[in-house]
Formats: sequence, C-alpha cells, structure tokens
Amino acid sequence: MGSIQVLDNHTIDQIAAGEVVERPSSVVKELIENAMDAGATAITVEIKNGGIEYIRVTDNGSGIAKEDMKVAFLRHATSKLHDIDDLSILKSMGFRGEALASISAVSKMECISKTKEALLGFRYSIAGGVGEELEEVGAPVGTTMVVRNLFYNTPVRRKFLKSESTEGSHIEDMLQHLAMARPDISFQFINAGKTKLSTTGSSDLGEIVYRIFGRETKREAFAFQGEGEDVQISGILGTPVLNKSSRSYENFFVNERYVKSDILSKAVEEGYHGYVMQHKYPFCVLHIFIDPAEVDVNVHPAKTEIRLKNTERIREIVSRLVQESLHKREMIPECPLDKPATEIEPPQKLPEVFESSRMKALNEAYNPVPIMNIPKPDLAGNVTEDKAIKEKDIFEIDFDAPIVKETQPRVEQKSEPAIERQVFPGFEQLSFIPEEEKVLSKEARKKYEIIGQIFNTYWIITYHDAVYFVDQHAAHEKVNYEKLIKKYNENKIDSQILSPPIILSVSPSEKMVLIDNRIAFENLGFSFDEFGGSEIALRAVPMEVYFSNEKEMFQEILAELCDLPGKKDIHFVTSQIATMACKASVKGGKKMSREEIESLIDALLECENPYHCPHGRPTIFSMKKTELEKKFKRIVE
Ligand code: ADP
Ligand code: MG
Repeated sequence: MGSIQVLDNHTIDQIAAGEVVERPSSVVKELIENAMDAGATAITVEIKNGGIEYIRVTDNGSGIAKEDMKVAFLRHATSKLHDIDDLSILKSMGFRGEALASISAVSKMECISKTKEALLGFRYSIAGGVGEELEEVGAPVGTTMVVRNLFYNTPVRRKFLKSESTEGSHIEDMLQHLAMARPDISFQFINAGKTKLSTTGSSDLGEIVYRIFGRETKREAFAFQGEGEDVQISGILGTPVLNKSSRSYENFFVNERYVKSDILSKAVEEGYHGYVMQHKYPFCVLHIFIDPAEVDVNVHPAKTEIRLKNTERIREIVSRLVQESLHKREMIPECPLDKPATEIEPPQKLPEVFESSRMKALNEAYNPVPIMNIPKPDLAGNVTEDKAIKEKDIFEIDFDAPIVKETQPRVEQKSEPAIERQVFPGFEQLSFIPEEEKVLSKEARKKYEIIGQIFNTYWIITYHDAVYFVDQHAAHEKVNYEKLIKKYNENKIDSQILSPPIILSVSPSEKMVLIDNRIAFENLGFSFDEFGGSEIALRAVPMEVYFSNEKEMFQEILAELCDLPGKKDIHFVTSQIATMACKASVKGGKKMSREEIESLIDALLECENPYHCPHGRPTIFSMKKTELEKKFKRIVE
C-alpha cells in the first residue's frame, strides 16, 4: 500500500481551524466581527479562564434564521459573498465563511439566535464539528455564541496557549481597540465576573478614551479633525503631558479597523516634532477614512498590518494635520497640587445597557419563566446536560448583569446590516470642552500681571484665575529657535565676522565631516577655513548667536554631526539650530530685569509653538486658583 492517504473531513477541519483559531482572542475577534457584520449596536463579551474554558459573545444584530443555523457552521458558508466578483466591493469584516466551522471543530460550541421575523429563537450545539438537532428557545432578537473548552480535542494546540491571564489580557487589549474603532457600538467586556470595559455606543470617542484610559488622560487629550485629498482624519491627540516611553499608546484605525502601521506612527511623530522629547511617543487615537481601494487589509492574516497605496501623501497629510492641531492648541500643563499628573483613574463601571435591555425584553416577552436549555459548565468546565435551566439562573450564572432600571435607555435594533452602513468621517466630540481664550496670546497679554522672578530662573505671572510659571531659559531658547528656523528657511541667516578668528583643533573625522558639510554650515551662518594640520579657523558665526559661547556651540554641533550616520536631512538642520538656540539663550540662575522679561514674553507670543522648547520641555505651566484654595482648605473637595 502506498503511503499517501486522503485526509478525512474531520482532520481537514482541524487543520484548517488552526489557521483561523490560534488562541482565545482570535475566537473572540471572529465572533465580534460576525456580530458587527450583523449590524449589532451592542455587543457583550464574557470570558472565564482567559477564554480557554468559556467565551460568550452576545449581540443584538440581525440574528440567524432557523434554516441558516446549521449551514452557518459549514466550511465556506457565508451570507456575505456570492461569487468572486463580490470580493472587491466587500466592506464586511469577514467573508471567507470559515470562522464558525473552524471554531466549532476545536471546541464545544453553542449558538442561540433569533431573527426579527421569527416568533421563537433556536439553539444549536456543535462539539468537535458534530452538531445536534436544533431546539426552540425563547430569546430576544440577536445572537449569543458560547465557546467552551477550546482545543479540548487538540491537546497539542492547547499546550501552546499561554497562561489564562495572558490570554485574557490579549482579549482585553483587543476589546479596547474595538471600542476605539467603533464608538458607535456599545461594548461590554466581562472577565471572570468583573466588568473590565463598558461603553455606551454614543459615538463619542472622548467617552471611550475616558473609559479605557481614565480621567487624567481624557483631560489632557483633545479632539481634532481635518481632511485632505480624499482622506478624512479625526480622533484624539494627547497633550505632551501624556507622552509615553513606548509607541503602545499610538492607536490607529483605518476605515474603522485597528491597524499597526510604521508609516502612520512616523507621520504622527513628525507632527509632534517639538512637542515630544527624544525617545518619547505621543498618545493618540487616530481614525483615518480613505477609499477602501487604497488599502490592502489582507496582507497579514490577523489583519492588523495594512499596506497603503500612496503612502507619502497620507503621511504628509497626517503629519501636517497633527502639527496644525497642536499649534492651535493652548498647551500649558496644569499642576494640581496633590496628584501626580500621570495618575490614571480606573474607568468607571457603567450599567450594562445591552444586557439589561435584553433581560427586559426577555421578561416582557416570556414571563413568567421561559425555558432555555443552556448546558452549564461545572467548575472543571465540563458541560453537564442540565436541561430546563431557568432563564434567570442562566443570566445570574453566566451573564453577570445588573438588573435594568426603568430609566435605562433601550438599545435600538438596527434593521440594516452593517455591511451597508456608511463609514462616517468623524465622531461627535461632545465630551470635549470648547477651547477657552488662549493665555499665550496678544489679547491676553494685556491682562497679565508679572509678579516677578524667583530663583533667578522662573517668572511668575498671573492671569484670570491661574498662576503661570515661565522658565526663562526654555522660553528664550524657543524664541531663538523659531527666529533661526524662520531665517534659515528664508535663507537669511546673517553672519558675524569674527576678528580675530577662533582657532579650533578637530579630529581627522571631524575635519572630514566639516569639509563634507561645508554648505550646510554656511547655510547656518558659519564660515571656516582649514588652518593646517588638525586645526581650523572659525571666521564667522550666525549673528543671532554672536556674543554667546560660539566656540563651544560650534564644537557641539560638530560632535552631533559626527554621531549622525548617513544622510543629513531636515531634522539634522533643526537639531543643529536647536543647539545654537540653546547656547545663545539666557541660562537659568541669571538675574533678568523686568524689561528683559517683558520683551522675552512679547517675543514668546510671536512663536508658533510657544509652549515647548526645541527639546520638547515645557516653557510654561500653570496652577489654578482653585488648587491653591483647596490647599489652604478654603474650599473642600
Ligand atoms: P463569514 O463571517 O466569513 O461569513 P463565519 O463562519 O464567521 O463566516 O459565519 C458564517 C455565517 O454565519 C455568516 O456569513 C453569517 O451569515 C452567519 N453569522 C455568524 N455569526 C452571526 C451573528 N452574530 N449574527 C448573525 N449572523 C451570523
Ligand atoms: Mg465571520
């Protein structure tokens, strides 16, 4: 007998399942995508044991009709695609018709669903790909999928799973991304009986940021919106107070899908240039809406990596919009006295809108005690065929939902499936307070009261109901920097001839760099000659920095340049100018006269971004009068 055998269907299913179902989070992802495709406006996800033993996804979408129920679990069964030509116009989340077949091949699954038209719902159990007969059950419109004992029949794959807490945190991460992707859908996430995330589906991205990241983040973030050639962008940007040490707080969504993209990261970071310090990254939740034809989402099986056509254009638009929004914004960090600025409060628990309305619907429709046959897992996760469990028990055991109050808004049923839903360019930003009058503006300037200098370094100013602290060095540095950049861009940096020239010794590699970049140095206002051997003569320096420590400045620029490999781009120039600006600025610890500070403040107001020095440190921060009042217990919190 030959050694080649045709695999049986069961084995084929299990192998194929591996491609779709890698871990509990991939199951949750597929089930949520199905719920979204079914037009759900509220989705609850509950897991136990990291999702390995128990996953429940309940939605209020279209439901599955009785005659489709079994078919939905067959491989390549889909209601979303009819022939291959459909592929190009398809906007739904998934269309391969593989998820349910794959998940049910490697778990004990059950589905309860009811359509609007049907009088009753149906329940279908299928374990290891083997299905039972349908049963009638009482259920509201929508679908509940329960997945138990993942990989119970493929022990090798089960061994590859990480700890329950790791698997659970993957799922939580994903839910956070989904909630940010779709602020119009109400999400509930319950892990081991605890509500971890709860959103209302109000379309308010600010609310989502609050729920996920807490009050402090919400307070230091602002909404922005803009567009450019066929691209619409909207989202939330963090002020520099929220800058992080890693990229993990940069959240990108292209056409409402969470994506990872180096190009978008770079674009946003470029936009934040001057607002973040080195090795720091901004906080952002950025939605980009582009023609789906411009995106290839299927590059990566998990669909988090995308390929954009026309990347340069998108990068340019994103970075410009981010920069403009930051410029427009007053960026004075506030200093509450008792709390560190980075403290994050845990998101508040919301009543479970969706489950409560579902319960109410159930109670109304099937009072007093309808029967739903859902097998309960015992503590070991084994299913016991405990028929005729009262619906109430099921909800108490599995659904952990607070009982509905009469005032609770009911979640509307959407009649249209999400496939036909138009992607909306922008969200309601209701929860953001409108911008007040800018403090650093010429208007406000007239009302400043300059109190004086402290520690020979900081200036205290009061305006309206707050006190402002200005760092004289950072402020001066910023003024010099913007002046120099402006002149550089206009090709107008004037030079001051040094007589006699400054003689400097340089290393052979420094000398090479100097000669290679002579033009760049001349554009910056420097001029030098080789002076024989290891010395050079510095003959002219930029006018703006004359009278400061020219020699040290030049040496520093040279050293920075030597450290920089390869091409010297615009960031090279800006960093050289930053060094020049720094060296030419008044230091901390120097007494300044009132006239000097007055003119420095005037000059600061001319800046495009007066809030940060070129290295991203703040020039100014504020403290509200109410903070002082709290400190002195004039007002009680
Ligand atoms: P696909 O999503 O690629 O079509 P799936 O295996 O994920 O394949 O689902 C198969 C079919 O089952 C879907 O096309 C859809 O018709 C139906 N279905 C699955 N989940 C739901 C749900 N939550 N609500 C309504 N219909 C669903
Ligand atoms: Mg699917």
